[in-house]
Amino acid sequence: MSAAADAQPDMERAEVRDVVAWTRLLADPGDASAVVRALARPPIELRQVDIARVIQIARRRKLEMVAALACAIESPQVPPEARARIQRFLELHRAATAALDAARPDLLARAALGAERDQPPRGGAGLAARPDGPDEEALRDMQRIVREEVLADVTRIGARLSELRLDTDLDISHGVARYLELLKLSALSQRPAEQSIHDALADVNARLLAAATALQREILQSSPLDGTLSAASGGGIPAQAGHDEAATGGSRAGRSGAGTYDERAARVQALSPRGEPSLVPFLPRKGGGLALSASDIETYRSCPLRYKFARVLRIPTEPTVGQRFGIVVHQVLERYHAAGGETLSQLLDLFESCWRRGGFRDSDAERELRGKARVALERYHARLHRQDSEPVWFERQFSLRIGPHHLRGRVDRVDRLPPGDLGRDGGIAGVSASAGVGVAGADRTGEVERYELIDYKTSRPKTAEQLRDDIQLSLYALAARESWQLQAASRAYYYVLDDLVVRLPGDTDEERVRETVLAVGEGIMGQRFQPTPSKSACAICDFRIVCPAAER
Ligand code: SF4
Repeated sequence: MSAAADAQPDMERAEVRDVVAWTRLLADPGDASAVVRALARPPIELRQVDIARVIQIARRRKLEMVAALACAIESPQVPPEARARIQRFLELHRAATAALDAARPDLLARAALGAERDQPPRGGAGLAARPDGPDEEALRDMQRIVREEVLADVTRIGARLSELRLDTDLDISHGVARYLELLKLSALSQRPAEQSIHDALADVNARLLAAATALQREILQSSPLDGTLSAASGGGIPAQAGHDEAATGGSRAGRSGAGTYDERAARVQALSPRGEPSLVPFLPRKGGGLALSASDIETYRSCPLRYKFARVLRIPTEPTVGQRFGIVVHQVLERYHAAGGETLSQLLDLFESCWRRGGFRDSDAERELRGKARVALERYHARLHRQDSEPVWFERQFSLRIGPHHLRGRVDRVDRLPPGDLGRDGGIAGVSASAGVGVAGADRTGEVERYELIDYKTSRPKTAEQLRDDIQLSLYALAARESWQLQAASRAYYYVLDDLVVRLPGDTDEERVRETVLAVGEGIMGQRFQPTPSKSACAICDFRIVCPAAER
């Protein structure tokens, strides 16, 4: 690797991402994801429930996050301890802004990371002598994380000692327990070369527990750390006395699929804040269940943590160019059909006015996108006039219940298919003349009426095979039957930019849709928000700067 590449900051390191987050929020106080990261990380460490409250204030009062924080310290909804942390953030923010004005990047970084956060040397004496393996690397990672927490605890708990509080002993015990965990990790890192983590841990645990008070023992025994260590070392680590799986959060959390160690999940588990209050008040509840949409379900399935950021904490995000473009295309088509549009020039005029209002600028990329959209709309218009099916509903809304959950949404377009049409655009996969064909009643000639549900997409097309597990259109088909008493014969995605229709194969598997909705609902109600990072999900995720699974 070149020296230049060596000099690149390691974007996966938490400290580097902290500086990036602070730099971003100083440049743009409305960058909610960056502010949330700065609030969640040392030296602030605001609890998630308090972050959710601040976001709620920002949304209700239409404020940028930093301005909302200034309001939050006046709000009776925000507890005194959280106010103190917010105050600390605002002080750091002021210091960092001043450093920025003085063009002192070194001061900026110090302010952004908290002046008291001295960087400890990486690795201990024992680590240097031990050859690197996955266990040692995971141990080193955990040691670094816990060391940061201990340092942050010193400041936080120290500040609280001067307050008149009833829970001071609990604070101190938590701080000491965390320090004992750091000792545990250090002892394991420096164990004799021939000893496994498994063999060393029981002995280290016994010694630490013997030195701890009853309260500290209780905290240590309910810590998820041993579960994480178990995952890191391939399992089999004996639980501490009274240390059951429920208390540890389950040693499964650090494992994936066939029992392999999932390093990132384990890190996230080790990082999970202790004693976080429930986020239940922020879940999108409706009646005894949840209010859900097809996109909520897809988001949770692609990554539960992403769902939490987007729908529970509701971190505001700026729509990307691609998202704004998608909105414009949907608006144009909806308005064109709603106005009974006929001609191509009507369609293109509508596009031009929606484009202007869409906040697009005149960059090369945006000009290119505009050109592509015009060509795509010309092709849409030509297709519309040569097809035999008849568009009958646009943006048609539905709502239905599945178990305790309420599902709402709207279908972009519903076409009435011509009689006997089974093969347009390369064939309507999964539709046959006798089975799977929808019946909404018969028309005056006695012909069976059959419909196609269409969802517009402006993303890159997927093949029918890639859409095998798709839920969105299957949910729409179920909703069409239950809400509109219309049995869909066919479900299709129309990729507008590519003028491509991809029809889903097979009949709607209603049982699969119901099971998926119920499983997702159970996960959300149970607040199971473990990240499931993947290249495809993370690449389009708005919350990468906040996400602990994206760092080490
Ligand atoms: S960055 Fe990846 S792992 Fe993190 S929340 Fe987003 S999708 Fe999930």
